[in-house]
Amino acid sequence: MLSNKDVAQVLDDIGDTLEIIGENLFRVRAHHRAAESVRTSTKDVNALARAGRLTELSGVGASLAERITELVDTGKMAYYDELKEQVSPRVLELMRVPGLGPRKAKLLFDELHVTTIDELLEAARAQRIRTLPGMSAKTEANIINGIELVRAGQGRMLLHEAYPLASRLVETLRAEAGVETADFAGSLRRMKETIGDIDIIAAAADPSAVTSKFIAGPGVARVLAAGDTKASILTPVGLQVDLRVVSPAEYGSALQYFTGSKDHNIRLRDLAKRQGLKISEYGIFDVKTGNRIGGATEHEIYAAMGLDYIDPELREDHGEIDAAAARTLPVVVTLDDVQGELHAHSNWSDGLNGVKEMAEAAREIGYEYLALTDHAEKLKIAGGMTRADIAARRRVIDEVNKEVAGITVLNGVELNIDNNGDVDYGPELLREFDIRLGAIHGGFAQPREKIMLRLRRAMENKYIQIIAHPTGRIIGKRNPYNVDIEALMDGAAATGTVLEVNAFPDRLDLKDDHAREARKRGVVLSLGTDSHMAAQLSFMMYGVAVGRRAWLEARDIINTRPLAEMLKMLK
Ligand SMILES: [Zn+2]
Ligand SMILES: [Zn+2]
Repeated sequence: MLSNKDVAQVLDDIGDTLEIIGENLFRVRAHHRAAESVRTSTKDVNALARAGRLTELSGVGASLAERITELVDTGKMAYYDELKEQVSPRVLELMRVPGLGPRKAKLLFDELHVTTIDELLEAARAQRIRTLPGMSAKTEANIINGIELVRAGQGRMLLHEAYPLASRLVETLRAEAGVETADFAGSLRRMKETIGDIDIIAAAADPSAVTSKFIAGPGVARVLAAGDTKASILTPVGLQVDLRVVSPAEYGSALQYFTGSKDHNIRLRDLAKRQGLKISEYGIFDVKTGNRIGGATEHEIYAAMGLDYIDPELREDHGEIDAAAARTLPVVVTLDDVQGELHAHSNWSDGLNGVKEMAEAAREIGYEYLALTDHAEKLKIAGGMTRADIAARRRVIDEVNKEVAGITVLNGVELNIDNNGDVDYGPELLREFDIRLGAIHGGFAQPREKIMLRLRRAMENKYIQIIAHPTGRIIGKRNPYNVDIEALMDGAAATGTVLEVNAFPDRLDLKDDHAREARKRGVVLSLGTDSHMAAQLSFMMYGVAVGRRAWLEARDIINTRPLAEMLKMLK
């Protein structure tokens, strides 16, 4: 089954191919736009194709919808296959190098028979490129540089790769003389699970002084563009950062505008229009008088329209504007609400650190409790605990609980849900643990009935309190197993089983849409980092981000409760 990402890639490839063969740019861009809307849609492209609803995606017209349907149905698209006869997909590969446009890529392919990035690098180093028409020694240097960037960071980044980098850039900017304030905007501020590039907005009276400082700063591998109020750079890992500097009076409106999402802003503009107002990146205006009502802060803009302030994570056109008007927005969970960690591994299974190191790290964060949920016996590949290990680890945990004040280490386990839905141990051993997760770690390709049988039996098992990483996806690497998500949620609600929002950055599982749906169905959720070393306990913020995007309040999440109350809530 093709993912949205796969389909988007094909559409992008078609766009690039059309550009190489000299098709008009309108058709080229149309394919890239459609690719973007497939890639960023929260709806599964297969389901949309089946329902004949692909044209609901912006930029997807009837003929493209037909081709996408052919692609998801058969795995092939005749139109794309035809194009591939005209231009080798190898040329597209070359175009992934920043600065290597279609014309140059085709020239290299035709003249030097370069077909891979490796061969391109070799040709550039051997100075064979500079002899071609329109190429120079500078072209070769750019190609070598560009390849290094591509290698370091392919395409979109996971949230946790972009977030720390962007935070550092923003901090550096804020410390700059003349800068009043700065924030990142865009999908990063909305905490989406993957990030394309980073948008930063800064407020300053003298913008050009700020942009010139920015492009000369550390962490800049290449300057793509630089003007008085705008600059674009590439970081050493190939991430593009766009800076806009605005006057302090326009800061809020610019931040609001560039935070998006596009859909949120469209709906907001519609509402403004109905109120006789106009909003733009420059402020909020009264249409009749032309007076500017505000725009220095985002709060001013929302307040001028009679709305409560909407947190960036909620700005996805999922009903937040109506809720803000009705003053019924949820008070979404924050990192401070989290009282303990419910999913972590020590060196008693496949973790790096010992019980004491994990306990000290959790106490450092300010947690009241830490559940060490090492793998159980049957997951040999992950160093699952033998029965002797369980007893020995229990003694260490007791020892650490006496020794390290201010934190309670819970004797937990991550059980493996096998092909029949059974787990590693029987009741007499299971009873010994304080907390028991159940999770699927294999048989990912099984049909839906089989997967659901396993999950259902696990939820019906009275010892399994939490289903960890409930859909098994790894972002960018592995699709979820074939889970009936609604049946899973209903089963969890019926059996009192908690569903985890796994905070590990390439899992984020349940994902935002699923977590929101789970809450609606009365499912209790937990946050767990699945840490395999002490430093990873800080990943909790990404789980909280999923929770916020899912409109979860603290009370929807079990580990926002104090220890005694949390334990009481587990079945
Ligand atoms: Zn696991
Ligand atoms: Zn785990």
